[in-house]
Amino acid sequence: MLKKTTLKSDKRYFKVLKKLRLDVRKSLGVTDSVSNATVLEMLLARGYPRARQETRESVYARFLGRSGDYEAEKKEASRRINEARKAASEASLQKLHRRNDFARKIGSPHPDYANDGKFYETREWRELRYLALRNTDARCECCGATAKDGVKIHVDHIQPRYKRPDLSLSLDNLQVLCEDCNFGKGAWDTTDWRIKM
Ligand SMILES: [Zn+2]
Repeated sequence: MLKKTTLKSDKRYFKVLKKLRLDVRKSLGVTDSVSNATVLEMLLARGYPRARQETRESVYARFLGRSGDYEAEKKEASRRINEARKAASEASLQKLHRRNDFARKIGSPHPDYANDGKFYETREWRELRYLALRNTDARCECCGATAKDGVKIHVDHIQPRYKRPDLSLSLDNLQVLCEDCNFGKGAWDTTDWRIKM
């Protein structure tokens, strides 16, 4: 949280610098397309002989009659932004590793498997899902919880669809699980939790 706020304020700092640059150009009466070298020459001509030795920001600030150590703040802001970027890229790398671990566990999908996301909206699936719920009184077949216990009830494919797309609409391949049991189970686990007759 803190990092996000810091990055935001640091980005704001670079906006301040951009405005400083634009304000200088505006008071010199030149457009944004004029090069920095030309702007520097114009400042030199207007009596800023040390402009070449100073940083652009400090010369600009002085020319506009403003105070503030822009250079030190700019360095600090750059450092913090780079740090936040590094942390973000490390986080995304970890996410990628987790995804690869997951892929290793579940293996590659069946060639016939199409992850179109529309499956769960089809009438066939909804009818079959209803049958599975009716047959089990919508009770988790692993822990026995129902919606009355405040849990969400899922209808789970025992053999996952990406492994056995042919069993997508097979009632025998369905089991009713509460959300906790289903998420705890993990997609690579194909344990059949149905109550054995
Ligand atoms: Zn359960």
